[in-house]
Order: sequence, then structure tokens, then C-alpha cells
Amino acid sequence: MDKRTPVMEGKNITVRFGDGCSYCRSHPELEKGRCPVCHTIWGVRDVSFQLYPGEILGIVGESGSGKSTLLKTLYFDQAATSGGAYLSLYQDGQKNILEASSQQKRYLRNHLMGMVYQNPMLGLRMKLSSGSNVAEKLIAAGNRNAGSMIDRSTELLEHVEIPTERMRDQPRVFSGGMQQRVQISKAIANNPPILLLDEVTTGLDLSVQAKVLDLIRSIQEELGIAMMIVSHDLAVIRMMSDRTMVMLGGRVVEEGLTDQILEDPLHEYTQTLVSSLL
Ligand SMILES: [Zn+2]
Repeated sequence: MDKRTPVMEGKNITVRFGDGCSYCRSHPELEKGRCPVCHTIWGVRDVSFQLYPGEILGIVGESGSGKSTLLKTLYFDQAATSGGAYLSLYQDGQKNILEASSQQKRYLRNHLMGMVYQNPMLGLRMKLSSGSNVAEKLIAAGNRNAGSMIDRSTELLEHVEIPTERMRDQPRVFSGGMQQRVQISKAIANNPPILLLDEVTTGLDLSVQAKVLDLIRSIQEELGIAMMIVSHDLAVIRMMSDRTMVMLGGRVVEEGLTDQILEDPLHEYTQTLVSSLL
């Protein structure tokens, strides 16, 4: 076991759509997490994890496995039915952030966690300039100095290779890869120790995808941000993550060092995923 203190810890997180019944409560392994009796969907079921400082934790699974729902729950886009999440840098790791007040959640989202969505429209305001998008995040964290905000926005956008002369452009006129890079710069604007990334390169051309992943890697190495990266694509996870959790039907069916999982997958589903890489 790792003796470091996790920067974030999830404990028995469950997200359920429906009331459940005696059948599904006693059968954890439901196809797609769906109860054939009462039709409740167990989006995330009893998931626990540790995210250590500066590491990349990959979460891989098919559509409907609960991987994105888990991430959205941690970022308060989705309410949890039960369970908890704890940040070492927030109230000494004693406070279940899933039960935080809306004011506390706003603080957590602006200072301690960043999120990059698959759909850039969820992370960006398409009709504001790219610079204003980043500035909006700085303002949310209490910044009021226009000069320092312009400097910081310029620095952040340069960091993700958006040319300065395009800072005034709206993200809607950008390519998919550029939109994701603006989203990343906005998400890290306030130096959060944790970054959540949900299928951020899905739908991009392979060459663009490789560039965005390289950028995420270099940001991680430079700033030491702990990241959780969700993808349906094991090739992305293999490239990015130190440790990996495999989700299926809302549950974690396998977890460990990424290399170990690739070399010796134990669960049948993981074996299928690994063989699809060959
Ligand atoms: Zn049921």
C-alpha cells in the first residue's frame, strides 16, 4: 500500500437513478448497471479510490460503465446517492465534499479542482473571447486586478499554445483541439492540485489527440497536478496513467498499476479490452 496521504479519496460512492429493489440490492453485477426487475440504474456502485499527489489515475470502461458519472459526481455536476469524497487540502480531509454547501462547492471548484469536459460547450462560454474565458475563472477565485488577469490569461493561453493574437477570438471559431486547449488553460487557471479530465480527446483526429495528450502530460509534469483521466480508450489510458481503474456496470472490476493491468489483466472484461489493443 502507498503510504503517502491521498490528495483525494473516494469512499463507497453510489449514484443511483431509481429506488432499487431487493433484487438489484442483492445483485451487484447487473448488465450495464440496470436492474431487470425495477429498472433502476446503478450509475456508480460502491466505488472507492485514492488519488495520490502528482499522479495520473486512469479510469477506463465502456459507455455506461459509470466512469464519467463518477467524475461528474466529484465535480458536483451529478449528485451522489451515498458515499463520500475527501480532499486532504480541504478541512484536513475530514469533510465529505459531496455533502458540502453550494458555497463550499463553489470554493472547491474554483480553487482545488479543475474539470475538462468532452464537450467544450460545458467548459467554455463560446461567445466570450478565449482570454475572457480564462479571466472568468480568475475572477471566480477572487481576482479583481485587470492587469494581472490579462497577464495571467496570456501566460496560460501561451502555455497551451494558443497564439496571443488569437486571445480575443471566441472559442466557437476554433478547431476541436484548440477548444480543448482553451478548456485546459481555464481549468488550471487557479493552480488547482486536482484536475479531472473526461474523454477530452474523444472525437479528435489522432494527430490532434496526440498533441493534446502530450500537452496534458507536460502540464502534469511541470505543475505536479494530480489527475483523473476518464477514457473508453485503453490506448489513451496506457499512454497517460500510472495507475488504472477498470469500470463496468457502475463498479470497479479491476485496479492496479497500468503496466500490471496491461500485462496480466485479471477480469474477463479487462482481458477483452487489452486484447483489442493488440
Ligand atoms: Zn431493482
